Amino acid sequence: MNKIKKFYVVGNPIDHSKSPYIHREFASQFGFSIDYRTEKVSKGELANFLSKAQEEGVTGINVTVPLKEEAFSLADESSNRALSAQAANTLCFSGGKIFADNTDGLGVVTDLEQNLGCFLKGKTILIVGAGGAARGILGPVSQRDPRTLFLTNRTLEKSKRLVELYRSKNIEILSWGNGLLQPVDLILNCTSLSLSGKLPAIDKTAIGRETICYDLAYGRHQTPFVKWAIDMGAALAIDGLGMLVEQAAEAFRVWHGPLPSTSGTIEKLRKSIS
Ligand code: NAP
Repeated sequence: MNKIKKFYVVGNPIDHSKSPYIHREFASQFGFSIDYRTEKVSKGELANFLSKAQEEGVTGINVTVPLKEEAFSLADESSNRALSAQAANTLCFSGGKIFADNTDGLGVVTDLEQNLGCFLKGKTILIVGAGGAARGILGPVSQRDPRTLFLTNRTLEKSKRLVELYRSKNIEILSWGNGLLQPVDLILNCTSLSLSGKLPAIDKTAIGRETICYDLAYGRHQTPFVKWAIDMGAALAIDGLGMLVEQAAEAFRVWHGPLPSTSGTIEKLRKSIS
């Protein structure tokens, strides 16, 4: 009989995580079971946890806020996408080594393009935030060949560092609260502001009748950003539940090989939290 493989998702806070549900659901699509648990791990504690996990014979670990940069720095080897982001959300243990990957960017691009029909090529996109999530998505989004990428973050230095990381020429940095005079095609809210019921400093002139607004945050209720975008007349405003499932599907592929189907899982999750 095959031994049941063991996984964790780590971060702080972590109790709310849907990852155990999603990964068990994916495994059941292929007729096997996994042991997938949550563990509260704070900044500075990851190295200890990884040693324990390695001793326990864990196969893989998902990493969430605030540990993505720490996870990258502790890995022995990294994928190109983790290397470009200098942040990891997926770790694999193999042959005594830790391999780091980052599936956040693919997750958001897949949700936008395949699930929502919002293709990024030639689009004008405003990315709001320059934290761990923005690091993971900026590369994959810019690879889709948008016309212009605007980046704004409360801490200007972090926007500058992020643009340097990607050395991309088509990213224009805006200062926080600096209004765009014309509507953009897509706004990606990569700040954690929705988690505290707040809105980013974006002027309503950035939203037109064709604008799609995407909040990486998600929850039981409409996020403040989604609600605001609808009130401002956006064509579509949606939270990051689809991204959550898509980034998990890619992590599942990295660990197990096959790519699970995601539409049923997104639907079930949407129903279970509403
Ligand atoms: P993070 O590294 O802690 O970054 C937080 C970001 O929010 C930074 O840009 C920060 O700006 C900004 N921010 C926080 N408080 C602010 C305030 N009071 N005013 C203005 N800006 C503020 O977090 P993260 O890992 O990037 O996560 C960001 C969001 O994405 C979270 O809501 C997370 O749940 C979500 N997320 C979702 C998925 C998914 O699968 N759907 C995946 C990853 C992340 P400063 O740089 O100025 O501090």
